[in-house]
Amino acid sequence: MPRLLCFTAHPDDEAGAFGGTLLRCATRGVETHVVCLTPGQAATHRGGAKSDEELAAVRRREFAASCQMLGVSHGAVLEYPDGKLDRQDFYAVVDDLTRHIRQIRPQVIMTIGPEGGVTAHTDHSMAAIFATMAFHWAARSNRYAEQLHNGLAVHQAQKLYYVTALFTLADRQPISLSPSTTTVELEPQELETKISAFKCHASQAPLFPYFEATVRKRGRAELFHLAASATPHRSQSETDLFAGIKG
Ligand SMILES: [Zn+2]
Repeated sequence: MPRLLCFTAHPDDEAGAFGGTLLRCATRGVETHVVCLTPGQAATHRGGAKSDEELAAVRRREFAASCQMLGVSHGAVLEYPDGKLDRQDFYAVVDDLTRHIRQIRPQVIMTIGPEGGVTAHTDHSMAAIFATMAFHWAARSNRYAEQLHNGLAVHQAQKLYYVTALFTLADRQPISLSPSTTTVELEPQELETKISAFKCHASQAPLFPYFEATVRKRGRAELFHLAASATPHRSQSETDLFAGIKG
């Protein structure tokens, strides 16, 4: 069975950055997994929550509702602290993400780009870097070998994608985006479901008008950069993350 694993930093990234592609893959029979590294407890918009713990609980529920709308087979929110991914133990976080890859055994992994996406958020950059190393190291028997003594086997995912864009935001820090190799053109209804999934994150409601306006203005495509492939080949343009996937 085809399996897709998406690593994100915050609840709402799964809808805002990957929603259409997650939905498309689920519709086509792909088992889809989202692993979100933080519960988003440091968000500017608090939705009336009185503490970080309360906001984290609210955002976990919002994430679950969004994942359900997008047909995600399994969504998980990890316990890393929002806003502090750059201050975590690198080796330990990659250990954790490597374990997820070896358990889920996806053919395709997607995450944010190391630039941090169009928002340039530091957590996005770190999620990308952790996920990138986990993609590579999950395949190697000399990395986190102790996992292999506990029932897990090495796993080489076939492709790693970074979500990317053809624009930058004027009011953000400078970013250098990865070139697009892969265009997932959404059907009108898929775009509407993506926007609705983003709106499951009611604590972030002040973001809705800007998000919706930006998404509608930029067209229906979600763009990706093929960052690594288990099969060496020249770059080519694609419309499907599972193009050329075996098994
Ligand atoms: Zn985010």
